[in-house]
Amino acid sequence: MRVVETIEEMRRVRDELAEPVGLVPTMGYLHQGHLSLVRRARAENPSLVVSIFVNPTQFGPQEDFDHYPRDAERDLAVLEEEGTDIVFMPSVAEMYPPHFGAWVEVDRVTERLEGACRPGHFKGVATVVTKLFNIVQPTQAYFGQKDAQQVLVITKMVADLNMHLEIVTVPTVREPDGLAMSSRNARLGARERKAATVLCRALGLARQLWSQGERDAQRLRREMTALIQKEPLATIDYVSVANAQTLEELAEVNPPALVSLAVRIGPVRLIDNVVLS
Ligand code: AMP
Repeated sequence: MRVVETIEEMRRVRDELAEPVGLVPTMGYLHQGHLSLVRRARAENPSLVVSIFVNPTQFGPQEDFDHYPRDAERDLAVLEEEGTDIVFMPSVAEMYPPHFGAWVEVDRVTERLEGACRPGHFKGVATVVTKLFNIVQPTQAYFGQKDAQQVLVITKMVADLNMHLEIVTVPTVREPDGLAMSSRNARLGARERKAATVLCRALGLARQLWSQGERDAQRLRREMTALIQKEPLATIDYVSVANAQTLEELAEVNPPALVSLAVRIGPVRLIDNVVLS
C-alpha cells in the first residue's frame, strides 16, 4: 500500500494503475460502514484508491470541523489490511492553496434537508468530490446510502457535468442495535449513545406504519416526531418524507419515498434514512 500526500504524486501513480480504478472518498476515522464501501470497491476493481481528507469547505463556521475525530495511523493499518493500493491523504493546503476560487454548485436537489440546515455544505462537497475525481480519475466511485442526499447531489453533478465515471451506492451499515455507523458516533457519551438509537427507532416506526398500509406522509412525520420528542437528549433538525429523486415533501407516500431525519443528540448531529419502495 502506498500513501500519497501530493496531487503531483497521485497523478504520477494513477498513470501506472491497472484499469478499472475504484475510488472511495472518506473523511477518515474509518468504521465498518466505510469498510463495506472499501470491500465492494476492492472486489470490483483491480486498483483501489481510498482518499482520507476532512474537507473544511463542507463544514459551516459553527460546525464540528475542529472536533471531527481523526486517527490516521489506525486508518492506514485498517486500509492496509483491506488490500488498498493507494491512500490519497492530502493536506488542506494541498487541496486549497492560497487564492483558491473555483466552486461547483448543484441546484434544486441541494436546497432541502441537509442543504437547508447546512448552507454551503453541498457546495463544499461537490467541489471537493470534483477535485478528487479530477486528481484520481476513477472508473467508479463508491458512496454510502447513509448520506442519501449526498448520493443524489453527486449523481446529478456527474450526469449534468458529463463526468466520465460511474457512481456506485452502497447500503447503510448499522450497529447491532440499529444505529447507523458514523465517525461522529465516537463523540457520543454513554447516555447519548443510548439515546442515539431514537433515529433508527423513528425510521423503523415509519416503515412499520407504511407496511401496515399508512399512506399519509404527514401522519408518518407526526408519529416519528412524537417518538423522538420523548427522548430528552434529542433535538430535531428535520423529519422528512420526500420523493426519493426530487426530495420534494410528499402528501401521499408514493414509492420510492425517502424517509430521512437529522437529530442532534447533545452536541452531536446525526442523520439517517430509509427508502420505502
Ligand atoms: P465520511 O467519512 O463520513 O465522509 O463517509 C465516507 C463515505 O462512507 C460516504 O460515502 C458515506 O456515505 C459512507 N458511509 C458513512 N457511514 C456509512 C454507513 N454507516 N454505511 C454505509 N456507508 C457509510
